[in-house]
Amino acid sequence: MAKQQTYIMLKPDTIRRRLIGQIITRIEQKGYQIVQARQMTLNKEIIAEHYSHLTDKPFFPKLEEYMLSGPVFGMIVEGDEVIQGMRTMMGPTDFTKALPGTIRGDFANSTTYNLIHGSDSEETAREEIGRFFG
Ligand code: UDP
Ligand code: MG
Repeated sequence: MAKQQTYIMLKPDTIRRRLIGQIITRIEQKGYQIVQARQMTLNKEIIAEHYSHLTDKPFFPKLEEYMLSGPVFGMIVEGDEVIQGMRTMMGPTDFTKALPGTIRGDFANSTTYNLIHGSDSEETAREEIGRFFG
């Protein structure tokens, strides 16, 4: 098992809905370590960079508006195989496929407003940690 770090970002609806505590509790219960955390407000430039794989999608304007709608809470989370482990805890992007017990399965009723971001590979984790905590 390889120790990894991943970038987790609680999106604006998580903060608005007062769900930061419940999500952090799940990360702690799992035994992962939060090694850095900070609340921040994003701008268009950093959103376009972070979601560069999606800027030409029809839903991008809605995603951008969402990510600008309030502060986010970014974290570096560490643990064995934490990148895939957090993706499993989050549940899939499509909220209708996110099973109960996952964060999106329990709290999200929209594919856009889905509470949480987690890096999807070692390469994106490195990039995203540099982008938000560099
Ligand atoms: N998204 C959306 N509609 C879609 C797909 C994605 O609004 O059909 C939003 C959603 O907030 C998602 C984000 O774009 O979390 C990034 O998409 P990605 O495919 O990277 O999903 P994730 O890695 O967050 O599961
Ligand atoms: Mg993604």
